[in-house]
Amino acid sequence: MSVSAARKFENFSEWFDSLLLKARIVDNRFPVKGFSVYMDNGAFMLDKLKELLEAELERTGHKKMYFPLVTSEELFGREAEHIKGFSKEVFVIDQGPGEQKLIIRPTSETIMYPMFRLWIRSHADLPLKVYQSVNVYRRETKATRALYRVREIPWNEAHTVHEAPSEAERQVREALEIYQKVLKRLGIGYMTLKRPDFDKFAGAVYSIAFDAWNPDGKVNQVATIHNLGRNFAKAYEIEFEKKDGSRGIAYQTCYGFGFSRALAAVIAQHGDDRGLVLPPVIAPTQVVIIPIPFKGQEKQIHEYASKIEGMLSERWRTVLDDRKDVTPGEKFYHWELMGAPIRIEVGPREVAEASATVARRDTLERIKVSLDDLVEKVEELMKSIETNLLEKSQRMMLSLISDARNVEEVKKILRDRRIARVEWCGRVECAERLKEEAGGEIRGERYDIAETPTGKCIVCENDARFVVYVARAY
Ligand SMILES: [Zn+2]
Repeated sequence: MSVSAARKFENFSEWFDSLLLKARIVDNRFPVKGFSVYMDNGAFMLDKLKELLEAELERTGHKKMYFPLVTSEELFGREAEHIKGFSKEVFVIDQGPGEQKLIIRPTSETIMYPMFRLWIRSHADLPLKVYQSVNVYRRETKATRALYRVREIPWNEAHTVHEAPSEAERQVREALEIYQKVLKRLGIGYMTLKRPDFDKFAGAVYSIAFDAWNPDGKVNQVATIHNLGRNFAKAYEIEFEKKDGSRGIAYQTCYGFGFSRALAAVIAQHGDDRGLVLPPVIAPTQVVIIPIPFKGQEKQIHEYASKIEGMLSERWRTVLDDRKDVTPGEKFYHWELMGAPIRIEVGPREVAEASATVARRDTLERIKVSLDDLVEKVEELMKSIETNLLEKSQRMMLSLISDARNVEEVKKILRDRRIARVEWCGRVECAERLKEEAGGEIRGERYDIAETPTGKCIVCENDARFVVYVARAY
């Protein structure tokens, strides 16, 4: 029995939803739109993602803090573009007559920055680098989907304040490296795109996004980085005394990493028709040991399996599955569904030879290893699985991109669940027409490499100014 009769690339939604429940990641039956229950495996992996990212933030000098869940209408409204961008998406708490309404954070600029104003006095207080891992809330009106498009969003947001624009630029690059590092450990294939102006974060100078590929062709934005310039610093009066004694207005950046979306990318990109395929770093169970019973040798086999568990459990999250009422075959299916990176089988032959049969989840290859080499071999396989998942996913990302010379070609590429690369004049009208006629959004130009247009805008045929990527998106 496979996870679902539907294969991942043919019926993604069914495959994904069924897997979430069977692998105890999310139970999406809570009867409020856009709010999910994270079950044991889902919660474990969200925590691991958080740990991974927070370690990188700490290493680069960010300080963890916790800010309130709410802001006031007055604070929320101070940066004009920001309120325009978010006002339709926020949940509001009505405190009753005579009391001001409270806004639940859709992101925390308007909550943190009034405090930054109090904390920052002089250049000696800069840079300030703060982060928190919390839930934010957005009143999604489109169809919601577990992990991808939810109203309660588990994420990490970091906010920084600097003296000079060059330092804010440098901070953007640091954030980029931090996110790249985390996504690499997860083996996620993505593009870093500079969003077109009409789609940047409300209040930012520019935004960079990490768009991960998805089997249904809709890209999944897992993280964004924004250079805020002085837009917020002016609105929230974040000023400081410069070295020469004059007053300066600070420069800011902020960046957010969506834990549930990154988890969605891990599941969707690596999973197969048997179930999850997890990168070792976030797998709740990294090694599972399955005894193959043999009449008359039950005791020896069990002792041998326990010995192996002892050898491995110090280093890896190891489970010895010695359930008596379940056949080895059923256990194989179960642990393949759960995505355990490595399975070890031990039966009478392994006991006699002092060996183990080791299977890797990503390629399903099985090898025989002597007990003496087992720890070393498992270590090697874990690394190899991580590399293999990353390389496979990156190759997939590249293979999904096709050049389109006109709107018809874009339409066809999107219909094939792929991503179109086109030349564009930069005008919003053309982006809107493209969306209407082809059904895809201009996601932006590559940030990591420079691509120079050589021809005409595929919509209006004026000279193109950008090479951009067009996709459907979550
Ligand atoms: Zn145009």
